[in-house]
Amino acid sequence: FHDLSPKFALSLDAGEALVMREHPHDLWLSALEVDGEVLLAFGLAGCPGHDAPLAAVALAEGHALVIAVLDAFLESARPEQTRMRHLLAAMPIEEFLQAVGRRLIGPLRRQACSHRALELPNPVGPGLPANALGVYQQSVAGRVAVGAAVPLGRLDASMLRAVAQLAAQWGDGTLRLTPWQSVLLPNVCGEHASTVMAGLHAAGLICNREQPLANIIACTGSAGCVKGLADTKTDAFKLAVLLEHHGLNLPVHLTACSRSCAAAHIAPMTLLATRAGHYDLYFRDTQQPGFGALRARDLTIEAVGALFAADSRSSTDD
Ligand code: SF4
Repeated sequence: FHDLSPKFALSLDAGEALVMREHPHDLWLSALEVDGEVLLAFGLAGCPGHDAPLAAVALAEGHALVIAVLDAFLESARPEQTRMRHLLAAMPIEEFLQAVGRRLIGPLRRQACSHRALELPNPVGPGLPANALGVYQQSVAGRVAVGAAVPLGRLDASMLRAVAQLAAQWGDGTLRLTPWQSVLLPNVCGEHASTVMAGLHAAGLICNREQPLANIIACTGSAGCVKGLADTKTDAFKLAVLLEHHGLNLPVHLTACSRSCAAAHIAPMTLLATRAGHYDLYFRDTQQPGFGALRARDLTIEAVGALFAADSRSSTDD
């Protein structure tokens, strides 16, 4: 499968409560139980948080399904169609499913999962925040997992050492890295959860969604990517300080070029770098292509902070 684009993405979950279900993938698979039997529901060019599955296969046929989908994709896609969504824009999905079905021994079960989308109203399960911050009950009574986000996805050595010590002292010595750029310390006694959370906070991790950095994402930027026009990580830290100063907490995505590596989705607010320290600001608008409606051009981070503050004042005045 080396012919696949490096961005061709697969996701697989076992139906747990804490699962990344809102991130689009070329092929996604999600376990579900129907009449006592575990099946793998799947979809193409979408995500289980938003899309109903196309069909399901028996669990034992999951691997064969993945192979069949990838083979059918490589056989059907033209060179410029590097992602599943490109192919399905040109090829009826039923035709593609038939090509997949021909490669399988067992049937594609279309009826088994027709109600599946209704069963998944919340992408990460009822009552759970969207990026694994906080304390999660485990199935073992009295045990919890404690989660905290890594600021802009950069876990440095001193943070990692502190987190490891917390895991050794209060958990079972293991750490889980999540798809939300956060860490989870599992198997902590419930009564120690607040101690662990305080330790994570002291280590520099983000422990609640009220902190502006919990809602800001940034690509690698010019510090680590030749395509970057601006140092997005540094600018994002600056923006977080400004937002905190103004009492604001906004979902902002900083991207150092239009490739948008940090977000497969369109964020409510996008800062697209124009040159070092300068950005065009877009507000998400489903009627418009790309990042949405252009709000202002070539702003410094200070100007972005001032604009957000002015917008919030005027909406409060309204
Ligand atoms: S969005 Fe552009 S600048 Fe940022 S990491 Fe991706 S390619 Fe590099």
